[in-house]
Amino acid sequence: MPTLGEIINQNVREATPELVETMDRNRVRCYSCGHECPIPEGQPGVCKVRYNRGGKLYVPWGYVGGVQCDPIEKKPFFHAIPGALAYSFGMLGCDLHCSYCQNWVTSQALRDPDAISPPLEMKPELMIEDARRLGAKVLVSTYNEPLITSEWAVAIFKNARAAGLMTAFVSNGNGTPQVLEYIRPYVDLYKVDLKSFSDRHYHELGGRIGPILRSIRALHEMGIWLEIVTLLIPGFNDSDDELKQLTEFLAAVSTDVPWHVTAFHQDYKMTSPEDTTPDDLVRAAEIGKQAGLRYIYAGNLPGRVGELENTRCHHCGHTLIERFGYLIRAYRITAEGGCPACGARIPGRWATAFQPQIASRPFLPVRARHRASY
Ligand code: SF4
Repeated sequence: MPTLGEIINQNVREATPELVETMDRNRVRCYSCGHECPIPEGQPGVCKVRYNRGGKLYVPWGYVGGVQCDPIEKKPFFHAIPGALAYSFGMLGCDLHCSYCQNWVTSQALRDPDAISPPLEMKPELMIEDARRLGAKVLVSTYNEPLITSEWAVAIFKNARAAGLMTAFVSNGNGTPQVLEYIRPYVDLYKVDLKSFSDRHYHELGGRIGPILRSIRALHEMGIWLEIVTLLIPGFNDSDDELKQLTEFLAAVSTDVPWHVTAFHQDYKMTSPEDTTPDDLVRAAEIGKQAGLRYIYAGNLPGRVGELENTRCHHCGHTLIERFGYLIRAYRITAEGGCPACGARIPGRWATAFQPQIASRPFLPVRARHRASY
């Protein structure tokens, strides 16, 4: 029986030229993520899914490790077509190895033998057809780290754009200038998990903070709609000092960037910290407010964080969107993307009219349940 690694090695193609550099001794350098691996002949990069064969860089292609329909609020995007259904797909592998990963089955499939998730062969046209059939408004590359499988996401996103759908990355943000330029024409929305503001902590997760901060700045400058999430882990990244530095950095990028501070629950290999409490989230939100951020949300604890699930006008305080978890309870943003009370422009990517939610919780598309029918 073939191993997972062998199956994945059959679903590849050569890297796009923008993301690879030929080096001496048949080595190649990959620019798909901030590791910028120099890869010797016959070896994979840190992510295990891009590898050098015969002096050429081969990359994942033609499969998905998972497909799911999510409310866009789950990604989370709160300032982009609220209520929309987000057709979400992932491949396998990641360039980091966070011990608390909530998508570990797909992200760590090649490192951790307990994380078994067999790939499913797929064509971009079939995914778009399925997304449209279900009424989705946005295609999202998520579940594993999308930057390391950018070629496949771009192929799908070209089809999505042609069909009038929006596109999004849900990413750790560990990018390079090359990969951001490569995806730029095809990505509308981008969520970055800013996991910490400590380089030491990022080293524990297998990365460096520098490329992530650089990518956050670049994405904002490129005009891609950006939202940031920080999973608040007691004892890891929740000190007042670290949160102050993190939120001051975001406010310097733009006070319009929404910041989601979300509750940790024990998962994967990180089982020692306590779960995050509502009070922890409220404290973090207050620090972000002091830093100047205008849109702060507390996530993963529906109904327990008061106004921090709702969107309020930064200018007059009028409540614009009321939420409970992923459910939209009220929507008052004008067709022009403004506050109906004071007329202030609300930063985001708004639809001209709110469409009732198809779902306020995730579900599997029927075809994904019957893998053979693809
Ligand atoms: S995607 Fe990142 S980890 Fe993978 S080979 Fe390229 S630079 Fe290395």
